[in-house]
Amino acid sequence: MKTVSRRDVFKLAGAGSLALLLPALTRVGGGQAWADDNILDPESPQAKALGYVHHYDEVDAERFPRYEAGQICANCQLAQGDLSADWMGCSIFPGKLVAHDGWCNAWVLRAG
Ligand code: SF4
Repeated sequence: MKTVSRRDVFKLAGAGSLALLLPALTRVGGGQAWADDNILDPESPQAKALGYVHHYDEVDAERFPRYEAGQICANCQLAQGDLSADWMGCSIFPGKLVAHDGWCNAWVLRAG
């Protein structure tokens, strides 16, 4: 019967850790690709209908007079996920990412 040394145990543990880490690292890389592919296109029909822009400086105030200074996606009730991130989810645009400083005509003040 072969005995297992402490060194063998550490080698196995290291290999096991790597095996556990690889899928996580793959998800991180895949997540970045997902994010880039899913940024909301302001030119898409739904985004255009709501006047979505990646930066509040670009709001067409004549077309969307309810816009007021200080309104951004990051303080909108409909934003989802990490509100301090550059890009975040939005319940109006499922599966898409909107900009931290973006805006659209569905903006609602975030509670709290
Ligand atoms: S609903 Fe809110 S979070 Fe979504 S795009 Fe419009 S302003 Fe941004």
